[in-house]
Amino acid sequence: MGAPEAFTTTSDVNHWIAGRPFKGASGTAARSQAVYNPATGHVARHVCLGGEREVAAAVAAADEAFPAWADTPPMRRARVLNKFLELMNRHRDTLAAIITAEHGKVFSDAQGEVTRGIDIVEFACGIPQLLKGDFTDQVSTGIDNWTLRQPLGVVAGVTPFNFPCMVPCWMFPVALACGNSFVLKPSPLDPSASLFMAELLREAGLPDGVFNVVQGDKVAVDALLAHPLLKALSFVGSTPIAHALYQTGAMHGKRVQALGGAKNHMVVMPDADLEQSVDALIGSAYGSAGERCMAISVAVLVGDIGDKIVPLLAERARRLKVGNGMASEVEMGPVISHAAKDRIESYIALGAEEGADLIVDGRGFTIQGFEKGFFTGGTLFDRVLPSMRIYKEEIFGPVLCCVRVPDMAKALQLVNDHEFGNGVSCFTSDGNTAREFSRRVQVGMVGINVPIPVPMAWHGFGGWKRSLFGDMHAYGEEGVRFYTKQKSVMQRWPASTPKGAEFALPVSK
Ligand code: NAD
Repeated sequence: MGAPEAFTTTSDVNHWIAGRPFKGASGTAARSQAVYNPATGHVARHVCLGGEREVAAAVAAADEAFPAWADTPPMRRARVLNKFLELMNRHRDTLAAIITAEHGKVFSDAQGEVTRGIDIVEFACGIPQLLKGDFTDQVSTGIDNWTLRQPLGVVAGVTPFNFPCMVPCWMFPVALACGNSFVLKPSPLDPSASLFMAELLREAGLPDGVFNVVQGDKVAVDALLAHPLLKALSFVGSTPIAHALYQTGAMHGKRVQALGGAKNHMVVMPDADLEQSVDALIGSAYGSAGERCMAISVAVLVGDIGDKIVPLLAERARRLKVGNGMASEVEMGPVISHAAKDRIESYIALGAEEGADLIVDGRGFTIQGFEKGFFTGGTLFDRVLPSMRIYKEEIFGPVLCCVRVPDMAKALQLVNDHEFGNGVSCFTSDGNTAREFSRRVQVGMVGINVPIPVPMAWHGFGGWKRSLFGDMHAYGEEGVRFYTKQKSVMQRWPASTPKGAEFALPVSK
């Protein structure tokens, strides 16, 4: 297979409403934002930023399309998703190249992201099975009772920059399979993947208006949340925004699931396999430049494993191959923006000021031919304390903090006391340690000798504590519940029972 083709389109990124591109406002109402190629640091194209006008148009299109789509038999909806699945598979590399061009992650990682998105589409093709209701024959003489799940109406998804394909796929395939119409508001930092998927959905035969994209920022999100026809919002992004949208959504009477930030710990027990633990820490801390909500950003080193593992981590962090994500030998690409690079590097300065041991310093990293790119090298801190801000706050970059603890009890306490609870992992050779850890840890997704335990499509994804606001996890059966409401029907046919007014609360007779 030849080298993948880079995505170099320069045209503006528009909205997608009622099955076709929808141009942004013009004149004084026009707002747009530059989209960069993070490897070169150059502006590649611009994205329109929508507001009330675009949100109103998208919600109106979705509302108009909703009744017919909701009435379409689940099997026929699933067939459209099946066709979409085939198209996603066929265009997997084109989509991955779009992601690398705007996000910066290495191409093989972008392919992995697309594949994990496709997994959810495949799951959604089987959703008719999960829409089956429950039926009780003869709840009372001549009366049957059943429950069914019906779609909500127009629902929306607001997604972060770090997975421009996979995170939207956590939402819209499930929502559509359940019979809803959808408005996606992707991150303006890497907006092109959303339009590519919109075109594939149209090609798959999705009726116009069932899936819409409004590009934009806070202005578009605020307009969505305030729109009276919007029934539910799925959000994935940072914790302050997740919390705020959860509150505002509730105020407007919307159903909201809001997945937030993370500080994922990996506990390494003294009996863990050293080589596997080092590989796991390096891959999960520096893969995708640490810009994954399931990245490991804290290594909790128990007992004497610390002295053995830190020199090995340092050696590997120094040897990381950093560069343009389209080059096949590269292991870590740039971070998303100049602002992100500045934020990450100021955290590194802060960590040193706070008194942590800065073992490998990723600051001041440049690559010949890519001098303007948003690169920062891998950074490693040792002897980080729980009181330090570099421990408490989400850095969201290639910075690994090592914390030393004497035993498993202290390791568990450390993880459980942290405000975030997205993912966690424990490396050990002892079954009982693993069992106790997974039972007692206060985190939503747990890996045992698995560093990034992102659940498969039918298990659902979600953290605990300040990593998720709402009741339902994303995708899986919880996703189906989120995008549907239960109805209970009780039925009696006139001929089956005697007539007459009943004044007492009816009971089973
Ligand atoms: P972000 O919170 O800045 O943005 C997320 C989305 O919200 C974007 O679409 C953005 O345009 C919009 N937005 C930004 N500010 C807003 C505001 N004030 N009001 C309304 N909407 C606003 O997050 P990001 O930087 O794009 O993504 C990184 C963050 O996402 C990290 O914190 C990461 O941990 C988190 N994340 C979490 C998960 C998870 O499953 N828990 C998954 C991926 C990313």
